Amino acid sequence: MDLLDESVVPAHAHEVKREAREFADEHIRPNAEEYFRSGEYPWDVLEAGMDAGLVAQDISEEYGGRGLDLEQVLAINEEFYAADAGIALTLMLASFGCEIIETYGTEAQKDEYLRPVAATDQLSGLAVSEPQTGSDMAGMTTTAERTDDGWVLNGEKYWVGNAVEADWLTVYAKTGDGDDRYGNYSMFIVETDTAGYEAQHIPEKIGMRASKQGHIIFDDCEIPEENLVGTEGGGFYVLADFFNHGRVVVGGHGIGLAAHAIEETWKFVHDREAFGRDIAEFQSTQHILADMRMEFEAARALNWRAARKVKQGEDAGFWAAATKTKSTETAVDCSERGMQLHGGRSVLEEYPISRVYRDARIPVIYEGANEIQRNLIYRQGDI
Ligand SMILES: Cc1cc2nc3c(=O)[nH]c(=O)nc-3n(C[C@H](O)[C@H](O)[C@H](O)COP(=O)(O)OP(=O)(O)OC[C@H]3O[C@@H](n4cnc5c(N)ncnc54)[C@H](O)[C@@H]3O)c2cc1C
Repeated sequence: MDLLDESVVPAHAHEVKREAREFADEHIRPNAEEYFRSGEYPWDVLEAGMDAGLVAQDISEEYGGRGLDLEQVLAINEEFYAADAGIALTLMLASFGCEIIETYGTEAQKDEYLRPVAATDQLSGLAVSEPQTGSDMAGMTTTAERTDDGWVLNGEKYWVGNAVEADWLTVYAKTGDGDDRYGNYSMFIVETDTAGYEAQHIPEKIGMRASKQGHIIFDDCEIPEENLVGTEGGGFYVLADFFNHGRVVVGGHGIGLAAHAIEETWKFVHDREAFGRDIAEFQSTQHILADMRMEFEAARALNWRAARKVKQGEDAGFWAAATKTKSTETAVDCSERGMQLHGGRSVLEEYPISRVYRDARIPVIYEGANEIQRNLIYRQGDI
């Protein structure tokens, strides 16, 4: 059974998908349990991913990357997340936010900031969420005020991937106070060694423990004028566009996690006896596995359809929100059902299903909680 088979994946993404699977078998699966237990940053796996050309390679060839497109990145994410979501998140976050610089940045910004990430000499990150809200993007309070030489940032960000490890971040900050609350935000590049930038790791998580997020405090953090990305006041719309791509990829996180849950559960029920037979022989078990498989296939078909739609720019907001929601909730459902079929062993840490179950709780929240996605689906999905 190859749940992540190539048949729904466009041909140009097959090769990189095979590379990702090979890499996951060699470097992610064997290290998953250890990193989950220790909660340490998987530097060695990240470096191996960089050497394999599978990290930060969505950056275009012009700036030193492989120029992997949305479908190729999705194919990698399915494979990585099916192996281990925590390590996968670290690998995928290495270039988080770069797409914004590539699409909206100046040539000078691209040269200075994209090249070292594509060359895997630097790590990036994206700082949007704050301690008081992650959902209300027009309600964030970190400010960037103009000075004679540039901008000064004050405020806090929370949950930021690689806030401690990254060399620079793309930061979303408030630059205006107009009546149009969507026109009050802008994007900036902030180097993490700038005076007034402080970051520390947030407390230990229950899932995706091999990835690290941080709490940032900007205290009169001064950055040069030229670090504004795109136009002043355009930040909200830049993010909305960025999230359309990101949410298709997060759909792939859900698909990978669901595949992992189904594989673990399938193995377990064929190897465990109750009442003198394999529990796979109970019809109720078979029906649960049938349901898991149907949900998985439906979610995956939607995900690949959404990838095509978003790539072509057709109702991107609707398709991105729909697939993010469906795939990540399929992961939650499959892991929950898989837990039940594992019986008492489901709560033993040594069983991968217990990790998948905890990891699956996360993509239903990040890149916009699914309630926010449902708002977008309703608003943009009118017929
Ligand atoms: C592991 C992890 C990694 C992350 N990485 C990053 C990162 O790299 N950069 C970054 O900027 N952020 C990151 N985030 C933050 C993430 O995007 C936010 O957690 C998410 O947007 C939700 O924001 P919140 O946690 O503040 O929840 P809140 O905004 O406080 O919302 C809490 C809950 O309230 C409900 N809710 C809120 N608003 C509505 C509404 N309008 N309608 C209905 N219900 C609603 C939902 O149930 C929601 O889950 C990460 C989060 C996690 C867990």
